[in-house]
Amino acid sequence: MCHVRVGFPYEIVEVRGSYCFRMSGKTAILGGGVSGLSAAYYLLENSKLRNITLIEASERTGGWLRSKVSSNGIIFEEGPRTVRPQGPAGSNTLHLIDRLKLTEKIIPISLSHPAAKNRMIYAENKLHKLPNSLLGMFRTNSPFDRPLIGCLMNDLRAPKLIKDDETIYSFVERRLGKDVADYLISPMICGICAGDARQISVKFLMTALFEHEQNHGSIVKGFMASRLQSFLSFSQKTVKNSFIFSREHSDSRFSSHRLAGKEKWSMWTLRGGLEQLSIALANDIKSRGVVIGLNIRCQGITFADGGVELELNGKKYKFARVISSLSAKHLADLVQRQHPKLAAELLAIPYVTVAVINLVFAGNVLEQEAFGFLVAPKEQSPILGVIYDSCILPRKDTTVLTVMMGGAWFTSNFGDHPTKEHLLSVAIQHTKKILNIEAGPLSYNVAILKDCIPQYVVGHQDRIKRIEDYVGKHKLPLSLCGSAYKGVGLNDVILSGQQAASAFYQ
Ligand SMILES: Cc1cc2nc3c(=O)[nH]c(=O)nc-3n(C[C@H](O)[C@H](O)[C@H](O)COP(=O)(O)OP(=O)(O)OC[C@H]3O[C@@H](n4cnc5c(N)ncnc54)[C@H](O)[C@@H]3O)c2cc1C
Repeated sequence: MCHVRVGFPYEIVEVRGSYCFRMSGKTAILGGGVSGLSAAYYLLENSKLRNITLIEASERTGGWLRSKVSSNGIIFEEGPRTVRPQGPAGSNTLHLIDRLKLTEKIIPISLSHPAAKNRMIYAENKLHKLPNSLLGMFRTNSPFDRPLIGCLMNDLRAPKLIKDDETIYSFVERRLGKDVADYLISPMICGICAGDARQISVKFLMTALFEHEQNHGSIVKGFMASRLQSFLSFSQKTVKNSFIFSREHSDSRFSSHRLAGKEKWSMWTLRGGLEQLSIALANDIKSRGVVIGLNIRCQGITFADGGVELELNGKKYKFARVISSLSAKHLADLVQRQHPKLAAELLAIPYVTVAVINLVFAGNVLEQEAFGFLVAPKEQSPILGVIYDSCILPRKDTTVLTVMMGGAWFTSNFGDHPTKEHLLSVAIQHTKKILNIEAGPLSYNVAILKDCIPQYVVGHQDRIKRIEDYVGKHKLPLSLCGSAYKGVGLNDVILSGQQAASAFYQ
């Protein structure tokens, strides 16, 4: 066995005629998107593991987080742009923001802001504002043919069907009505995952409502039962909880999470763009000794002797364990040879491609301030929706919009290899028509994000369980994170990084 020192800070060992890096006790993280960076961050925070190498195929970290600054200082978000503060995953991200000293950069958008209150649907060739108050639910708002509150009567009358899973479209159509499935849920699914509600599992968004039907016969009855249950358990625990609440609050008196609740944030973003988050994460982990290898593509994973051998840019390197934050598709390729069953499960998670077109128009071209509008798939329009960026972050003298196109309908609308020029012209044509804009844009940015969002189709939750069971049963030193498994939003993938790291906390 021969030992050589190289530029890469590891020892090369010759094994059976071929060279490999011996990294006993060392941890590899595959992928430098926000979930891989988070996994490294939480390993440093919570474990004694220190020899961590993050391997990223491209020339930068951040993955889909990309905030491009245009020549006149406008930020074009190509990926995510706003984050929700609600729930445990929302507070976890805000806590991370505080720890990374990004608090000063937070731009909160409160519930009373027009971008939070006003959301629109494009259907039957016009824009419709969704009701944003309880009173609005009692009125008939187009494109619905009855007050939305009526869908609760629908639910109480609809028979219970016992199912393991079904599409979110069929669940909503059965329980709440076809108009809600067509004009509310289908566009919402386009907005969240660029997907087709007729394929996406009800458990992607509505596990609790689905279980209400399965356990109590209807959403309304299940909701009432759960309220009653939590009221009863709250009364019993009031004394104990009041102690927990006060302690939590005094620990986090100045935290963004607390402020978000106090000031009723609906969402937030960062000054300079959301990419500030991945930049801060990368700087933080680098300063604490994590080696970030850019332009290094993992081409194969082989598990052996309780460890793992990675093929990186054609050479073999040994690690004790690996966290994969890669898309399920990419990971499937890497484990295919040794674990074809695992690869088949990973490959069964479909992905969609999205075209993101940022447009800048002179002056204020919008008739209504809002977050933007989503297009009902029934319209068969090539665009999924438009986000009014300059309502979220007001700009003097210009209107900034982002048009999302493709998703589940990318190939049927644009073929396999559309040019950026074609996508731009479709985006401009449809946006101008829907918003009655006369002049063309002053500037633009076009990005084609290939296979960027996984689709949680019917059976997804069971598939993830089978994947986890496979890894456990074969005792693979592999932990998974990223958007392929338990949530596609930024909060979810940060939490997934934390959970993947926790598998190796020592
Ligand atoms: C258009 C769009 C808009 C979105 N909007 C929002 C939003 O407003 N709010 C929100 O909360 N979420 C939003 N999301 C979701 C959120 O952006 C993603 O969930 C998140 O960025 C995914 O991060 P990730 O680290 O899991 O994956 P990625 O960002 O995909 O990171 C994976 C990394 O792995 C690298 N890699 C791939 N193969 C290899 C290999 N073989 N070897 C080494 N490295 C490899 C890739 O180069 C990449 O950097 C949006 C997503 C998209 C695409």
